This record gives sequence, C-alpha cells and structure tokens, in this order.
Amino acid sequence: MIYKELYDEFIFKGMEEEEILEHIKKEICDIGKKMYDLGFVAATDGNISVRTGEFEYLTTPSGICKAEMSPDRTSKPNEIIHVDTSDGYDRDKYLFRPSSEFKMHLRCYRERPDINAVIHAHPPTATGFAAAGIPLDDYALSEAVMIFGSVPIAPYAVPGSDDVPESIAPYIRNHDAVLLANHGVITVGADLKQAFHKLESLELYAKTILTARLLGGPKQIPDEMLKETCDLSKGYALKHPGFKKYSD
Ligand SMILES: [Zn+2]
Repeated sequence: MIYKELYDEFIFKGMEEEEILEHIKKEICDIGKKMYDLGFVAATDGNISVRTGEFEYLTTPSGICKAEMSPDRTSKPNEIIHVDTSDGYDRDKYLFRPSSEFKMHLRCYRERPDINAVIHAHPPTATGFAAAGIPLDDYALSEAVMIFGSVPIAPYAVPGSDDVPESIAPYIRNHDAVLLANHGVITVGADLKQAFHKLESLELYAKTILTARLLGGPKQIPDEMLKETCDLSKGYALKHPGFKKYSD
C-alpha cells in the first residue's frame, strides 16, 4: 500500500492529490530539520525519500543542508524533488538533481513492497559501529530486540556508485535498519515517521550498547525469554529477523 493510500482514512482524508503531496513535502522538510538538529547529519549529508505512487517518489535534493529544505513549489535548488520512474530513472534529467544516493532508496523500495519511506544519515554512534565493523546484534536491550532484532553491516561500497544498492539489498530484505560499512546507516518504514523513529531508536541503541561495552560488555537476554521478546514485534509494521547474529 502506498503512502497516500496508507493515510487516506486519517490525515489525508478529503484532501486533493496536490494537497497530499504538499503535506508529504512539508513532512520531509520537518524530518530533515530534526535529523540536522539531532546531529544525525552535518552540512549536506543524508537523504530522505517517500514513495507516493507505483513509480513516483518525493526526495531530497543533492547538495542541500537538510535543515534548509523548502516544501514550496517554486523552482528553488532546495525544493523537494518529485521523481517519476515510469520510464526508468535518469538523475540528470532533473533541474535540481536528487541525491546521488537515491539509487539506494530505489533499491530499498524494489526489495521491500511493504515500505514507503527511506532515510539515510550518519548518526555518530551507530556510524561509529559501522566504521569499526561491529554489527548491533547483542540481543541485550528489550526494546531494541523488539524493534530491530539485530542490525547488520552492509559491505563498503563507494557512495553514489551502483555498488551501494547491491551491497545493501541482501540486508534490507530482512531488516528495517542497516549499517553501511565505513559510511552511515539506512532505515526504512511503512511511512516517514516510522523510518525516522527507527533512525532515532537505532542511534539510542548504539549509544546504549557502547555504554554497556564500556561497563564490561552487554549481556544477552536469557534464552528462555529471547524468543518471546523478539515476538513482541508481531502485529507492528516491522521486518524482524528473529534471532540472527552477524558478529563472529
Ligand atoms: Zn552518506
């Protein structure tokens, strides 16, 4: 179900298509500002997208600070871009180009028909784990076990290259959050708010595990309660891997 349909009965009820798209654009700008204010991105880092139709997306422009984006429809370099991929995707045909990482977003949508929003950012603690090559798979925090199970690391690929979508594909199929080795993180959700909440939860998870490591190391939830804790994810729009370890 695409984004517009998902919310038809709630905030979008009775709204014209143009109004709905304006609403989503504003939501992208609001989330971009939050990401910047939380220190999850600096300068022009990061990118956000929302699937609005079978071949249609709204996404953030290349080279713009995520705190300075504009939802208005005049042709400004900081406006949110409408991408139509019904004839394929050619980044260069847009006056203001989508992020070079938008290909990674498209791959997420291809792999995950259940999602309608993708966020890429560099939150420093989770990205620290990505830089250190340490997956988040301790199964030591109840909420993180419920939301994520584990968070794997996709192998390094040069940002913007065609290798990035390939590197994340096997992981994003089974996880809503993936660390990108030597780079950052990606989170996905049925809607933009969910993708952002996963980004926030991922960074807090990484911070807490870092603290546990400083205090002698995280302790896994007891075996007899682990499955039950994983199963708390059922009934929510979460892609949960169950008990799946990635560390050696
Ligand atoms: Zn990045």
